[in-house]
Formats: sequence, C-alpha cells, structure tokens
Amino acid sequence: MTTPFNFHLLAKPAGAACNLRCDYCFFLKKAGLYPGSKLHMEDDVLCAYIEQLAESQVGPEVTVAWQGGEPTLMGLDFFRRSIELERELERPGLRFENTIQTNGTLLDAEWCRFFRENDFLVGISLDGPRELHDAYRKDARGRPTFNEVTRGVELLQEHGVEFNILCTVNAANGDHGLEVYRFFRDEIGAKYIQLIPVVERDNETGFQEGEALTGRSVSPRQYAGFLTSVFDEWVDRDVGEVFVLTFDWALAAWAGEPSGSCAFAPTCGNAPALEHNGDLYSCDHFVEPSHLLGNILETPMGELMSGEKQRAFGLEKLDGLPQFCLDCEVRFACHGACPKDRVAKAPDGEPGLNYLCEGYKEFFSHIDEPMKLMAELLSAGRAPSEAMDFLAEARRRAFALVGRNEPCPCGSGLKYKHCHGK
Ligand code: SF4
Ligand code: SF4
Repeated sequence: MTTPFNFHLLAKPAGAACNLRCDYCFFLKKAGLYPGSKLHMEDDVLCAYIEQLAESQVGPEVTVAWQGGEPTLMGLDFFRRSIELERELERPGLRFENTIQTNGTLLDAEWCRFFRENDFLVGISLDGPRELHDAYRKDARGRPTFNEVTRGVELLQEHGVEFNILCTVNAANGDHGLEVYRFFRDEIGAKYIQLIPVVERDNETGFQEGEALTGRSVSPRQYAGFLTSVFDEWVDRDVGEVFVLTFDWALAAWAGEPSGSCAFAPTCGNAPALEHNGDLYSCDHFVEPSHLLGNILETPMGELMSGEKQRAFGLEKLDGLPQFCLDCEVRFACHGACPKDRVAKAPDGEPGLNYLCEGYKEFFSHIDEPMKLMAELLSAGRAPSEAMDFLAEARRRAFALVGRNEPCPCGSGLKYKHCHGK
C-alpha cells in the first residue's frame, strides 16, 4: 500500500456527456475517447472510487468532487448511492465533503434538498449578465441558457444551498470585468467566485507551440484588464466579504504559503481526473491517451498517483519553464501558470511561454503593494480586510497632494483631472 497524500481529484461520472453545447467547451470532444460508451459510471467504479479515495488521502476531510460534462445527468440516485458509500466508510478522523460543478440547468427542488441535506458545495457555471453569458453558453439547439442557469441559482438560494460561481473569462466578457463582478456580487449574491481564462486551441490533437487559438480565447491584455479592474473594486470594499479565488491564491504567494491552485503552484500532478469507467488521467486538461495513468479497477488510485508517470507529469511544469520565466520578478506568484496554455514563445524565441504571460505579469505587478500589505497583516495575526482602511487612507493622502495635470495616483495612466480629479 502506498503512503497517503492529498490530491484533488475531479470525477466525471457522466464522462463528457452534457445537455448543453457551450462553444468553448474543451471537454465535449473527449467523448471520442470512448466510442459507443454509455458515458455512465457504474456501481463497481463508484465503489472503487470512494473506497480508494478514502485510502489514498490523509484526511481528516476527503473531498469527493463531481464534474463533467454535466454530472447531474447521472440522476439523483447515483449521488444518493455515493453518499451511502461515504457514510459506510466515515469514522473518527475521516469525513467526506462533497462538491459538484454543474451548469445548473437541470436543478429542481429535489436536487436542492439533497444538496442541502448532504452539505454539498455547488459550483455554478455562469459567465456574467445575460448577453455576456449567452455569448458562448448555449444549449444543444444553440439557444441561450441564462434563464435556466439563474433559475437554478435561485432554487439553490431558496433552499439554503452553499454555492460558488465559476466564470470563464473569454473574448466576449473579457472587456467587462467590473460589470461581471458587480453582477455576481450584487445581483447573484455570490460570495465565492472563480475566474478561469479561456485559451482555446484550434488544433485539437496536441499541445504544440504556435498553434492557432480560437477567437473565443481571452487576449492577454483583456485578461489583465479584467483581473485588475475586479481586483481594484474588491480591494476597495469587498476583502473578507467576497472571495475571488484568484486573489486568495495570489495572497498565498505573497504570504509564502502554498497555492490553493495547481495553475499557480510550482509543479503539477495533484489534480487528476477520473473518467466514468475508472480511467485515471494526469489532469482534467490532459484527458488523452498519452496521459492515462491506468484504471482504478486494475491498479489502486494511490499507486497510480504516486507512480513515476504522474511524478514526471508534475515536474514537467517546472522543468519546462523558459528562461524568461526563470528571470521573471513575479514568478513566485505565477510559476508560468498552467502548462496547457504554454503555447507562446518568449521574446528571445524560446518556446514554452504561457500565452497569457503579458496579462499575468501586468496583473501580478499591479497587485504587489496591496498584496504585500495584506500578507503583512496576515503574518501579524490580523485580518487582510484591514488593508482596505490603510489603502483608503493612503489614497486620500496621495489625492490631496497630486496636481491636476499629474498622473492619477490610482494607477490608471490618466491625468488626475481626467480620472479621480474629475
Ligand atoms: S496542467 Fe494545468 S490544470 Fe493540470 S495540474 Fe497542471 S496547472 Fe493544473
Ligand atoms: S508572468 Fe510570464 S514570465 Fe512571469 S512567470 Fe508568469 S508566464 Fe512566466
């Protein structure tokens, strides 16, 4: 038996099956890996999954994370059975937590009651207000889905289910960061928001440098603008009230703590994906034959996760960094970000640079001062939210001293008279 260690596994009980057809979805085409399959996790795989997860993790909390495709296509009985298996295995020092990522369109009162009774954390995929969400998130007949998704959110709220928002940042909403953030905060009432950039290759077969990206991909400058505009609003008034995971992960970097995100960790390897038939892959973004670790019905998950293949996959993130990243002043927070997006070349022509590099550099540089302040507060045992008062006072002083034709202290690049001095 292998030594238990913690990793974050995403299980796909319905494989790539989904009732929607979002234009940018990278997972729908994965159904091609299992031609003729029902894309349905059977009971033997479910049992093996829950048992092996409990055996291979340290605890005391073990997270069962369901994802898709659309996991609710499995029906409620599948998840009831999962909870039954968890209850059989729970003991002092071992407790299961459940999360599910869903498009929210199939939820009803029965689902919500089940989530509430079993303390599920529900992630809802929503890309912003109606027009921005509907730009790419469509159903199988190409129709918009905003109404169905927000109806699902309302049901969750009515039943007191904890939920978070997973928002992709793409070409359509990329210039509207503040509008998207305010919509989530003020109209949806979201307390937890995760932002994921869409970097979508035209070439579906591999991960070669220089591949063309689709027009739905967010540009590096757009991504920087999105993140910085949301950050400025958040750091001005929402620290400690709204949790934007990208900012939490950044704060961990400034505080010298491990990142909560594989994307901003030095190495990969702790975020495997489990397909409906028990096939375990190195990562959700590398569900392809060359990154198949094995099947958990044949080899225990713990053994697959601590094997050489997964170790090499994890280290490749670090070993593959171009010199440009090694010399970068924000590498401690970025680490070259996700290898799936390393399709660009560094200025000296070296391959392996993240396509979003320019955006990450700008964002991490932009947040340096407030992050330093919040990290200092944290290390003094104080709340990072206190930074809001310090920053407001510093701004007030800077605004009092600045001339009308000088650059605005807010960092917008505009003259004071055209910005905060208007
Ligand atoms: S490839 Fe990307 S998503 Fe996968 S583990 Fe590495 S950083 Fe995370
Ligand atoms: S900001 Fe760019 S250069 Fe710096 S670590 Fe990230 S990807 Fe590399």
